[in-house]
Amino acid sequence: MKILLTGAAGFIGSHLAERLCARGDDVVGFDNFDAFYPRVVKERNLAGLRARPNFALVEGDLTAPGDLERAFTAAGGKVDLVVHLAALAGVRPSLAQPVRYADVNVTGTVNVFDACRKRDVGKVVFASSSSVYGADSVVPFREDDRCARPLSPYAATKRAGEMMAHAEHHVHGTGITCLRFFTVYGPRQRPDLAIHKFTRSIAMGKQIELFGDGSTSRDYTWIDDIIDGVVASVDQVARESRGHFRVYNLGGSKTTTLRGLVDMIAAALGKTPLVAWKAEQPGDMKHTHADVSLAGRELGYAPKVEISQGIERFVRWWCSEHGPELKALGLKVPTLPYHAPEPR
Ligand code: NAD
Repeated sequence: MKILLTGAAGFIGSHLAERLCARGDDVVGFDNFDAFYPRVVKERNLAGLRARPNFALVEGDLTAPGDLERAFTAAGGKVDLVVHLAALAGVRPSLAQPVRYADVNVTGTVNVFDACRKRDVGKVVFASSSSVYGADSVVPFREDDRCARPLSPYAATKRAGEMMAHAEHHVHGTGITCLRFFTVYGPRQRPDLAIHKFTRSIAMGKQIELFGDGSTSRDYTWIDDIIDGVVASVDQVARESRGHFRVYNLGGSKTTTLRGLVDMIAAALGKTPLVAWKAEQPGDMKHTHADVSLAGRELGYAPKVEISQGIERFVRWWCSEHGPELKALGLKVPTLPYHAPEPR
């Protein structure tokens, strides 16, 4: 297949591009290297891909329809399917920049649907989020929840993206699958996310800030499990001759408390965390937990990596990337493996 992949330089996008290229698909990546985190990190994400003959990257902005046109043209032939992952992804920064989030995540998403229609591409997979489950959602979250009370501007933009996707499908018959990812982690994880931030600070002997009383919990999903789900969904949409609208949760389907997460990271690093407790943050969800039975039945989705195993792998990756930095600071590089404490 020829696949246009927005957000290809990011954490999930670069892993997905690698998987698709490895199995022989042609991938045209699209990304504007948004400054949310440094370009140099995204260039590292792309390092392996740049060497592949079946990968090309077009630098451009979702909010500029002409840039998307360039990407379709660069594909040099008919694009079979678009995977739309590009977005402004953080929850907390969205509180301060709701207009930017709406521009990129809503207008940008509609621009993608528009460009697909003009190019007669009737198949799209769209990255949504567990954040769409809001104030009145019942845990574990199921796809038939109304999702009518989002807790942050980011959440509202992802829900709006899903709704625009439904409208696009209804009016034009486009086949669109919205995938609700539950906190994804693994090598190259976004540096703003908790696992990455805590690992860095604990390894460096710095204080970490924890919001609330530590009892909030998250459903964490190992990157390879997410990529399995995305690829299964790409193949499902690609097979069909008629367009369907679908929504799936992709999560690990188990929960870990904030305290439990910090314990695991600290144990993996062989350190004692220095914690500053802070008040709960507006916009944060108390709990996330995916019911993945629908994705299990229809996509064969079955997450495999337990959080204790995943944290060990993540910390191992982080140490391999940042060992020299630790040494330069006179700090010991932790030696793994270790025995993870039971998740709590
Ligand atoms: P990421 O920030 O690493 O990747 C997103 C990419 O989109 C970045 O490379 C960025 O440069 C690009 N981008 C941003 N604005 C753009 C624009 N205007 N034009 C073109 N490109 C632009 O984030 P990620 O963690 O890989 O997330 C990928 C997708 O999955 C996002 O849609 C995110 O909302 C969603 N998601 C992620 C998680 C998670 O835990 N990582 C959870 C739920 C949903």
